[in-house]
Amino acid sequence: MSKNATKLNAFPIFMRVAGEAVVIVGDGEEALAKARLLGQSSATLRIVAPAPEPDLRDWMREHGATHVAEAYDAAHLAGAVLVFAATADEALDRKISDDARAAGIPVNAVDRPELCDFFTPALVNRAPLAVAIGTEGAGPVLAQMVRARIDRLLSPSLGPLAQLANSLRDAAERVVPRGSARRRFWNEFFTGAPARAIEAGDALAARRAATQLMTHAAAVHGHIALVGAGPGAEDLLTLRAQRLLMEADVIVFDALVPEAVVAMGRRDAERLPVGKRKGCHSKSQAEINALLVALGRDGKRVVRLKSGDPLVFGRAGEEMAALRDARIPYEVVPGVTAAFAAAADLELPLTLRGVSSSIVFTTGHDLKGATLPDWAKLAISGATVAVYMGRSVAADVASRLIAAGLSPDTAVAVVENASLTGRRRFHGTLADLPSLEDRTDLTGPVMTIIGDAVAGANLERSRPLATQRLVAASEPQDTDA
Ligand code: SAH
Repeated sequence: MSKNATKLNAFPIFMRVAGEAVVIVGDGEEALAKARLLGQSSATLRIVAPAPEPDLRDWMREHGATHVAEAYDAAHLAGAVLVFAATADEALDRKISDDARAAGIPVNAVDRPELCDFFTPALVNRAPLAVAIGTEGAGPVLAQMVRARIDRLLSPSLGPLAQLANSLRDAAERVVPRGSARRRFWNEFFTGAPARAIEAGDALAARRAATQLMTHAAAVHGHIALVGAGPGAEDLLTLRAQRLLMEADVIVFDALVPEAVVAMGRRDAERLPVGKRKGCHSKSQAEINALLVALGRDGKRVVRLKSGDPLVFGRAGEEMAALRDARIPYEVVPGVTAAFAAAADLELPLTLRGVSSSIVFTTGHDLKGATLPDWAKLAISGATVAVYMGRSVAADVASRLIAAGLSPDTAVAVVENASLTGRRRFHGTLADLPSLEDRTDLTGPVMTIIGDAVAGANLERSRPLATQRLVAASEPQDTDA
């Protein structure tokens, strides 16, 4: 026997047994267990049992197995494709095994691995779908444990669903173009309306839904998903975002979306960076809109990945308008916006009972005008303010808010690279905020949160904002994660 730990010594296969003879020799419990297992297949069971115990006799009667009520003889194996020796008599099991092998029929002897050509798996049966679990004898208990887990995982309706899939396979191959359209069709089939109808026990509705899907899939339909990629950490992606990434033909992404998130897409998907990072050459918004429209017209499944939430300072409004005008179907998948990620990193309650009951998401870029924007008034009345893209306008934000009446002592917290392992956290007051503009060491995206609720944050892992001003960029990073 091979000692290579990573190699299987018994290779699982699925053997065709429909209408074929399978012989089980034995009178008792073990024979019954094999009969039950094989009874899940459409094989013709021949049970050689000279003196069957009552349970086995009942089972044979109920399941229509052929009963051979004679002492075992090699002739009983004639024409069989599989043989089971379950006599609980070592010498007899050995003889059965020898006879089967002599006749070229694979044999299994219960609890005698040396007499076995094959082993029987623990089985999760959702015919035609089957999950067979084998341990090469290492542990029937282990196999049953895994079986139970998988059994819970797989809906009983998977069987009928797979049957329906089988019956539609030819039609799908004729009607739906191979490649991404067909992949999508089956994906929808197994997760969408047909699956739900089967789950609800309505086979007719399922077939109708499947046919509808098929005609729909036959036409080439582009689709754009505006997907929030979250603040950067891969595991802050939603499950829906992940699924769409796995189905995408093309992934169009901004510079703020980390490589690791883009890499989660389908391996063969085309990946198109569209920049949008300060100072780097990037496509204009009009060019991005046109690109999405062109891809949609081309029938592509597109994931437009945007950092954070796509509807928060993501210019999604313009992209949606372009897609609507071009009548290209699209959907929006929310993501964890940077303010939420920063608040989580600071353990900062954005609303705090008795202190702050509203949250403002702003850019600070609208502070340049002569009139005070509405959000400044909200800040003064106690709202928690999250400032996006606020680094270069930090001084304006601070001076305008102070001039408007917000105390210079109001608490401020800043997170660079929220949610990522290289994140850095700072805290201070509104009076310290202008120092942010001088900090050339902050190269990642920065979120600023202002308000009395900041006092509720856990500032143990954050450093003072103001004294940082003069410290060199070689400071160790705040990598507690
Ligand atoms: N749609 C995005 C925001 C895009 S605007 C969202 O919902 O989060 C870009 C700004 O978002 C950056 O200038 C920065 O202020 C903020 N930002 C994005 N990712 C960030 C991160 N990981 N940490 C801190 N701020 C972040």
